[in-house]
Amino acid sequence: MADCIFCKIAAGEIPAAKIYEDELVFAFLDIAPINPGHVLVIPKEHHESASTIPEVTAGRMFHVGSRIGIALKRMENFDAYNLHLADGTAAGQVVMHAHLHVIPRGVNDQFHWNWRQVPYGDDAAREAVASEIRSKLHLD
Ligand SMILES: [Zn+2]
Repeated sequence: MADCIFCKIAAGEIPAAKIYEDELVFAFLDIAPINPGHVLVIPKEHHESASTIPEVTAGRMFHVGSRIGIALKRMENFDAYNLHLADGTAAGQVVMHAHLHVIPRGVNDQFHWNWRQVPYGDDAAREAVASEIRSKLHLD
């Protein structure tokens, strides 16, 4: 896509600190990291949403992301990592080319997800939500 910054990075038209590249995916350092070593894994083909990425490419993104996570765990100060993908503006997606974050984590890194919990009222309410999701789920 002509005006997409991540397409330009994957094509080498905009410089980036490359971590890995193959025929399907490109991985590079996020320029605004949560921690130093924060990597983005993107499909080389433009997809705004993760939901349209072909399964083989999406699987490759997850595989490469987890292996980068292992590399991050070998670095000083980190012994864990998060994989994070925001799909859609309300979810926090800013660059509209799907990307998987690989975020190195250490016990003293002072970063905390703002992770609230909203409990279901009862088992019936929980099952109603599960049923609705199942009715809308279409795998092909
Ligand atoms: Zn793109």
